[in-house]
Amino acid sequence: MLWALFRNPTMLQLPTYEDVAAAARRLQVQAHETPVLRSATADRLLKAEVFFKCENLQRMGAFKFRGAYNALAKFSPAQRKAGVIAFSSGNHAQAIALAARLLGMPATIVMPLDAPQAKVDATRGYGGEVVSYDRYTEDREALAARLAAERGLTLIPPYDHPDVIAGQGTAAKELFEQAGALDLLLVPLGGGGLLSGTALATRALAPGCKLYGVEPEAGNDGQQSLRKGEIVHIATPNTLADGAQTQHLGRYTFEVIRRDVAGVLTATDEQLVQAMRFFAERMKLVVEPTGCLGFAAACHAGLPLQGLRVGVILSGGNVDLARYAHLIGESGPGRGWA
Ligand SMILES: *Cc1c(COP(=O)(O)O)cnc(C)c1O
Repeated sequence: MLWALFRNPTMLQLPTYEDVAAAARRLQVQAHETPVLRSATADRLLKAEVFFKCENLQRMGAFKFRGAYNALAKFSPAQRKAGVIAFSSGNHAQAIALAARLLGMPATIVMPLDAPQAKVDATRGYGGEVVSYDRYTEDREALAARLAAERGLTLIPPYDHPDVIAGQGTAAKELFEQAGALDLLLVPLGGGGLLSGTALATRALAPGCKLYGVEPEAGNDGQQSLRKGEIVHIATPNTLADGAQTQHLGRYTFEVIRRDVAGVLTATDEQLVQAMRFFAERMKLVVEPTGCLGFAAACHAGLPLQGLRVGVILSGGNVDLARYAHLIGESGPGRGWA
């Protein structure tokens, strides 16, 4: 007991690989088994064998569908009847709305009044009810908690939830099954749902594989948290990687990450844009800035990769087309690619 407390001072019931395997069974019919793509150019650049796990080609355009669907599929009949609530202006909102529709339950999504219209439309298009709030005067968590209480809704957070973490881990489980043994794996890091789920799959299926999270340089709270041994909070970072603009890791995600992850690296916005160009030009893939974190670090973080089998998770591809064109075009930051 004391030893357990020492190892895991919060005494949280952390999710395990068994939860990831169960999530994979729940997701089998509804999630895509996304392809693992190769690029001779990437291999040449990094002097390694690189395996890109293409979650930009997942349903609704990001891995977040996995965690959302797994969490909602575990609802009791009463929870299903009342429905789910989430607050997000990004991929989690769309993931919850789509998963709820597939499972036949109502979804309420709390979004800022000034959220991009395309995101509001996409969420409504998946059948979600959008409730707007003023991000300057209203507290979205308080609003969501009030709506949840009034309407009996179950709140599903974007990353700090065992079922969400287990669902996100199914992407790496697939990757190991598709690509075979890997020496090193690079994963985008926001609140840590994807990285902690990946860690559960890695420790079970590829214990020799070194796992790294990659976050935007402007918001390296994950790196700071590992150094300090506690969750460090930062102001909302200013970065193109809008899927990783989180202010802190979660309680569950931090415990798994600090136990299983080799380190946290960072990438600059310019490196992300160069990677976006690489994926567009060489691989014909649309990858959103956050989805480029892993490859940007592979190219620039100085890890010794020579001769290794390296996995890179491309976490999503949802980027407004006008913004995408601007970023990868002549006027975007930096030049060239990789
Ligand atoms: C949410 C998101 C991330 C970060 O995931 P976390 O689980 O919060 O660490 C990375 N990439 C994309 C595309 C995302 O939508």
